[in-house]
Amino acid sequence: MRLYDSLQARPVEIKTRKPNEVSMYVCGLTVDGPPHLGHGRFALCFDLLRRWLEFEGNKVVHVSNITDVDDKIILRAETEGTSIDEVAKKYEQAWWEAVDALNVKRPSYVPHATQYIENMVNVISKMMTDGFAYETPDGIYLEVSKIKDYGALAHQELSTLKVGARVEVSPYKRSGLDFALWKFVKNSDVFWPSPWGNGRPGWHTECVVMSLDLLSDDFDIHGGAEDLIFPHHENERAQAEALGRKFARYWVHNGWVVVEGEKMSKSQNNFTTIKELLLSHDPRAYRLLVARSHYRSPVDVTKDSLKDAESALRRLDDFATRFNLQDVPEIDKKDQDYKVFKSYMDDDLDTPKAVAHIFSLINDAHNLADTSGIESAKNTAYKAAALCLILGLNLNNRSKDTYPENIKELLEARQNARQNRDFSRADEIRNELAALGFEVMDTPEGQKLKST
Ligand SMILES: [Zn+2]
Repeated sequence: MRLYDSLQARPVEIKTRKPNEVSMYVCGLTVDGPPHLGHGRFALCFDLLRRWLEFEGNKVVHVSNITDVDDKIILRAETEGTSIDEVAKKYEQAWWEAVDALNVKRPSYVPHATQYIENMVNVISKMMTDGFAYETPDGIYLEVSKIKDYGALAHQELSTLKVGARVEVSPYKRSGLDFALWKFVKNSDVFWPSPWGNGRPGWHTECVVMSLDLLSDDFDIHGGAEDLIFPHHENERAQAEALGRKFARYWVHNGWVVVEGEKMSKSQNNFTTIKELLLSHDPRAYRLLVARSHYRSPVDVTKDSLKDAESALRRLDDFATRFNLQDVPEIDKKDQDYKVFKSYMDDDLDTPKAVAHIFSLINDAHNLADTSGIESAKNTAYKAAALCLILGLNLNNRSKDTYPENIKELLEARQNARQNRDFSRADEIRNELAALGFEVMDTPEGQKLKST
């Protein structure tokens, strides 16, 4: 499989450390507020990658962290008049609820920053001893000029790299790009002891420490959203180099979610939470919207793009209903359509083409059923459904048995009315079903529903 490696700035053939095993670290969430669609997107992109790698017979060891100590969490705790533990617990729970609703597989390991403080202190001590880090009145900093290829991941000249979000401004730093490994704490009760004084770790240290601890040197994929490339991932690499550790083989980054041309982010305050989206949309619609865009491209989440995804989803469910798909078995890997699908997925996870192939199979199945009957198209139909499952997309067969109780009762009553030739009653029920969002169709296989 080829994936675009941000460090080499080109798609490369993935060669894993161990055969048939992929170790993958994906930067997780800072739990300082409700997760938004940008977070949902990174979770879905790496879920699509993981599901594909697993379907292809790899064991995937997937680590994704929770940052449960951070200036923003402390601020939130102060404004909510509660503790950082309470804030972190509340928003971490919101995160898992969102992830579960989106049918994203949970990571194999979920390290929390606060569980790794001692480990981080040890690592910082080593960087101090080896001359990569220095102490100032407000904290310990890594001196980036000691790192020979600093800036290689960002692909920018050092002089053009901006001291921006999450690179501390401090009068004591030797260079604007030096970053905090340990911040001394004076006016807060959120701190841990260290050889240099009470404080808390800088954000960039936790991921390098946790990834190397759980996946060890030379792990395969380090992932995250593309806004993490600089400074976060650049600074993780810098620390790994300072520690003499072999770090990630490949860097994979997903594009962000865009709202009217602007990146969706907490700091822009232009975000929709996952919970808000799911109040009015099927979670599968968001998965489909994400899968129909290439993972490295921006995704515009608008009313129209969501409506589009929902109508595509309806086509999928109508299809599953028409063919009465049940217990869909895995697709045969020798199948020609699987090979086509695979060629797209292996080409830098080209899910838009893979999804388009599924829809063309669905069209084929419908056409075949129209001309030669349902049975002759079932094989094609089951293949299309099996490919959907590889993308984590479960189809909803709305044929009679799967409808909610009240709908089943209406269908039964309508059937009785028709048998008794009480067509005005049958039409009344048709209208009742329409009011509930279903169009009833009388087909040779009996009554079928289509959502409107
Ligand atoms: Zn990280």
